Amino acid sequence: MARYVGPVCRLCRREGMKLFLKGERCYTEKCAIEKRNVPPGQHGKTRRAKLAGYGLQLREKQKVKRMYGVLENQFRRYFEAAERQRGITGETLLQLLERRLDNVAYRLGFATSRPQARQLVRHEHFLVNGRKVNIPSYSVKAGDVISVRPSSLKTTAIQHALEEVKGRGVPEWLSFDMTQTAGRVMSLPTRAQINLPVQEQLIVELYSK
Ligand code: SF4
Repeated sequence: MARYVGPVCRLCRREGMKLFLKGERCYTEKCAIEKRNVPPGQHGKTRRAKLAGYGLQLREKQKVKRMYGVLENQFRRYFEAAERQRGITGETLLQLLERRLDNVAYRLGFATSRPQARQLVRHEHFLVNGRKVNIPSYSVKAGDVISVRPSSLKTTAIQHALEEVKGRGVPEWLSFDMTQTAGRVMSLPTRAQINLPVQEQLIVELYSK
């Protein structure tokens, strides 16, 4: 499975906002957006282009792709799946992305960022309904229980992440049981429950051209 392996703070600087790709560093003053929120590249300091139309739509799509760590082809497949479903395509697209197992592990606080959650999933640290799942794009359903494998409970990254995110809570569509180190999908997320500064309609417009 392909993934982006280049410098990630550069992606945030391109989008001009925090995408939270580096865990706890994103919440400190070391964050590149806190230090110098300018686009990457030789001319980044001198100009940030004023966007309209296609440019705006493209940036919105890139932003969402980068947040969830999804590359172009897979992102398009998510869009096509969203189009096939009933409802508002943009909202369904975000819902499909939000249901990814790596995102759910991140939301539950088992990892400090989505990239870290993805790696932990690949390394088989999580169970879904008691079964080992190592596919980051696995789509969770309402009622699924996501837990940390007993043998992985002492993994430093997971322990550290649980400490870090203790105070942040989990979204309404999930519940978390600290004693079991497990979370349950209470319902599929609605747009209002997906707290992302994204105008998904622009992505729909981009792909509908
Ligand atoms: Fe983005 Fe985090 Fe880097 Fe800040 S520290 S620029 S939020 S990845």
